[in-house]
Amino acid sequence: MEKSKNIALVAHDNRKKDLVEWVEFNYKTLLGHQIICTGTTGKLVNETLFAKLEATEMIDKEIILLKSGPLGGDQQLGALIADGKIDLLIFFWDPMQPQPHDVDVKALLRITVVYNIPTACNRSTADFLISSHLLKEKYEPKIVDYSEYINRITGME
Ligand code: PGA
Repeated sequence: MEKSKNIALVAHDNRKKDLVEWVEFNYKTLLGHQIICTGTTGKLVNETLFAKLEATEMIDKEIILLKSGPLGGDQQLGALIADGKIDLLIFFWDPMQPQPHDVDVKALLRITVVYNIPTACNRSTADFLISSHLLKEKYEPKIVDYSEYINRITGME
């Protein structure tokens, strides 16, 4: 991980207000990093950042918008994690309501564990992550060596 991080932001509908408030509070820190969002969350995050900044400042700070979560956005995010392109995930998922894409949510959370991605599912954890000194430093997450699993059939190194 470089000093500037790729930070993914996602929130389910009932948690979007929470995430917007968190982005408002932390926008100065967030602007030092690349932000990647699922579709609807991304639009709200963009509006929130835009309201905080002059339009000119936004030009080189464009956030990357994926598809909306239920339309494949969570899976796109999972693929980016598997490709090593996401450093941090802030995911305010809704603990009170089933989602049409619950299986995608589960898959996304699973892949963050596989690749040892720092993940916040609530505001307190997000506060701890965003205020970590590691955010400003190079950091190599230790990833489990899966070679034994990969080579289990062929026996090849
Ligand atoms: P959304 O998706 O940002 O498009 O609402 C979020 C999600 O449900 O994963």
